[in-house]
Amino acid sequence: MLVDPDVLSSYEHDWTGRFSGRSSCVVRPADTAQVAAVVRACAAVGTPLVTQGGNTGLVGGGVPSGGEVVLSLRRLTDLGEVDRAAGQLSAGAGVTLADLQRHVRAAGVEFGVDLAARDSATVGGMAATNAGGIRVLRYGSMRAQVLGAEAVLADGSVVSRMGGLTKDGTGYDLVQLLIGSEGTLGVVTALRLKVVPLLRSSCVALLALESTQAAVDLLPVLRERLPQLAAAELFYELGVSLVRRHAGLPAPFDAHVPAYLLLECLDRSDPSEALLDLVGEAQGLLDARVATDAASVRALWAYREAHTEAINAEGVPVKLDVSVPTATLPGLVEQLPEVVAAVSPAARTVLFGHVNEGNLHVNVLDAGEEHDAVTEAVLQAVASRGGSISSEHGVGRAKPAWLHLSRSQTELAAMRAVKGALDPQGILNPGVIFA
Ligand SMILES: Cc1cc2nc3c(=O)[nH]c(=O)nc-3n(C[C@H](O)[C@H](O)[C@H](O)COP(=O)(O)OP(=O)(O)OC[C@H]3O[C@@H](n4cnc5c(N)ncnc54)[C@H](O)[C@@H]3O)c2cc1C
Repeated sequence: MLVDPDVLSSYEHDWTGRFSGRSSCVVRPADTAQVAAVVRACAAVGTPLVTQGGNTGLVGGGVPSGGEVVLSLRRLTDLGEVDRAAGQLSAGAGVTLADLQRHVRAAGVEFGVDLAARDSATVGGMAATNAGGIRVLRYGSMRAQVLGAEAVLADGSVVSRMGGLTKDGTGYDLVQLLIGSEGTLGVVTALRLKVVPLLRSSCVALLALESTQAAVDLLPVLRERLPQLAAAELFYELGVSLVRRHAGLPAPFDAHVPAYLLLECLDRSDPSEALLDLVGEAQGLLDARVATDAASVRALWAYREAHTEAINAEGVPVKLDVSVPTATLPGLVEQLPEVVAAVSPAARTVLFGHVNEGNLHVNVLDAGEEHDAVTEAVLQAVASRGGSISSEHGVGRAKPAWLHLSRSQTELAAMRAVKGALDPQGILNPGVIFA
């Protein structure tokens, strides 16, 4: 249990620098029984808790807002052996994604979710936020990797469904209910996770395209002709200029590029021929760079993966993560800078995302005092296209006021009823998802 203010500080501030709050203390239990004891003690006196994993969340859900106990899961780092027959393993909630990747790769397999915060993000936090990342088009989001979980409920009782059954028709799926619940329904202490084949041969193409529409038009072709496709990432000149400044990288192309599309293929044998054939035929292609060796693959990925850090190095952005029906993505990309400028004329709107899922990360720098006005304008534009106000980061404390744009009153009432049934005192992550 930590109480020294200097030590508490890193648990009280989020990664973006936008959310922070005092905690009464930080508790770091070592196993499920200790987590349960902490939750029971808090429940007995009605003290609220904020559960925290790697603290890389981008919507303020894992930091206190004022006086809560921070329950850190980072010491729950047990990693079981890969069950090769079932293609599964068990992992403590505090295992980081990078440690999980090292562990499963040593056993000749891979984990299906990958994201740039891998060195700190924990599997518990990833399950709680239903994290997506760069491989969703191939393997689905975190929800699709989770076959079982162990969790401590708000009264300190423990539910454990770690058997790893891939078929189980015995009523409500409590495990899946916890995925994406952002710590509001229970504290995940362990997970039963699926593994996927380890495909060591990679080929990356960075395409310079004449428009976002060209990237969207390429999607059906990619799906039909490139089963090796593992990532399709979209970004723009403004983001690349920040990445170059922050990471000291050279310009990827000589001329101005209206839309960048990074494609990665993974396979057992070299997938470059299939990718190159397709690149050669792509409509709206201005230029392309291709990489097959590990160092050049990393170098091309850096233009995309360094976006989040480069943006934060410029200041605290308004950070929004939205998705729209894919066909409407080009229109949204075109409209958003104007929508933002209408409420905050000096702001810079940096866009990037996962094109296959119509998922756009909207980062607005220099919004001054207009954080809420920018959020409102962007989320209204998204909702008007039938989109979601949160694609993969969650609602957290950042977006409860806008949840009604994506969820009907009936859905909200059902969600509140679930919360009320599992956490009647409201001690788990108060203020997260619901205001
Ligand atoms: C550079 C960078 C890149 C990123 N890229 C992506 C990306 O591509 N895709 C994506 O989806 N996200 C991305 N993220 C966001 C973030 O990494 C994910 O949301 C991640 O899942 C958070 O994991 P964490 O362990 O850091 O959780 P935390 O930040 O500690 O917590 C996040 C939420 O989960 C809850 N929580 C944490 N652990 C538990 C638990 N054991 N039980 C119950 N609730 C818990 C917290 O209360 C909080 O509400 C990125 C972040 C950064 C900084």
